[in-house]
Amino acid sequence: MKIIPYGHQWIQKDDAKAVLHTLTSNFLTQGPKIEEFENAISSYVGTKYAVVFNSGTAALHSAYFALGLTQGDELISSPITFVATSNAGLYLGAKPVFVDVESNTGNIDISSIEKAISKRTKLIVPVHFGGYPVDMESIKKIAGKYKLHVVEDASHALGATYENQKVGNCNYSDMTVFSFHPVKHITTGEGGAVTTNHFEYYKRMCLFRSHGITKNKNDLKRQKDEDWYYEMHALGYNYRLTDIQASLGISQLKKIDVFVKKRRLIAKEYDRAFKRNPFFDVLEEKEGRVSSYHLYPILLKDRWKNKRQKIFTLLRKKGIGVQVHYIPVPSQPYYQSIGYKKDASKGKNFYDREISIPIYPSLKKSEISKVISTLKTIIKKV
Ligand SMILES: *Cc1c(COP(=O)(O)O)cnc(C)c1O
Repeated sequence: MKIIPYGHQWIQKDDAKAVLHTLTSNFLTQGPKIEEFENAISSYVGTKYAVVFNSGTAALHSAYFALGLTQGDELISSPITFVATSNAGLYLGAKPVFVDVESNTGNIDISSIEKAISKRTKLIVPVHFGGYPVDMESIKKIAGKYKLHVVEDASHALGATYENQKVGNCNYSDMTVFSFHPVKHITTGEGGAVTTNHFEYYKRMCLFRSHGITKNKNDLKRQKDEDWYYEMHALGYNYRLTDIQASLGISQLKKIDVFVKKRRLIAKEYDRAFKRNPFFDVLEEKEGRVSSYHLYPILLKDRWKNKRQKIFTLLRKKGIGVQVHYIPVPSQPYYQSIGYKKDASKGKNFYDREISIPIYPSLKKSEISKVISTLKTIIKKV
């Protein structure tokens, strides 16, 4: 039986052609496609700069590095996210502090942030869960009051809009991070990007992406005329995206509005089918916030949540490739081993209720109908 996955990339002939063109060009990496992709991203979201990386995780790590996040600092984020959001803080010796999430969106619970702020807090990392924008105006207010930095994890939210502007424009944050993993809105195989309006952050991220090395004459600490001369200014990594990947990204980004439109049409169809059913809730969009629907979560009502595993297993058996987003990060064995026991309850109720059903632009009408009818049948039976 063919399984309908919860998410899937959409690669077409023109994407393949773009990649082939780069494969037979002079540059496979560190060539012209990188800057072209970066310019396309920054002009799409409306920032001055974009820096691309070989994963969304590398992008997060680099953004935190650019802010100067270091040993002893704390960052506040959501437990309902992919582990990379907080792992990138651990890489730099910082301590992730997990606060609660809103039960109806899975986004960070704004009212729980202030209580978690300490003298060591340096950064807030809101995650636009499933593509639904966080209330960034409130985040900005809190950040301003306590002089904290903000990095948006928008891995789920390319193409979403907040107050009529694209998520990623950094009007409410220092930087925004995107991922180009195949389940995300556009893909480069693996890949990620950071957008920002700050030249300093842009420079620090470019340095970090390539071993901390610069060849830029204006940045050199010792003035040398030799053409081969370069300096290493920070302990960076090799986080570079290839031109092969960037050419795929350029081609994919041209279709982002179509991709998001298709995702939204599917979401509206699900909304209609599941309106006011007795078993589970679906997310609602508030005025001024337009989701890009990376995910379509259903949230079992408390009465039904102990049936989740049964519903999940039956759906999979019927070929519906559901997934659960996410196991709360602090409850992961590694996090427990470094002392996170008491945080494990945060986000637990949301996690216990959540199932993500298939949503991606190439999902066929017949498949959408199958998801709807299968779910309706199964849930009545359990
Ligand atoms: C996908 C994702 C990332 C980055 O993942 P990569 O696979 O490294 O691109 C970060 N945060 C969230 C919430 C994600 O979903």
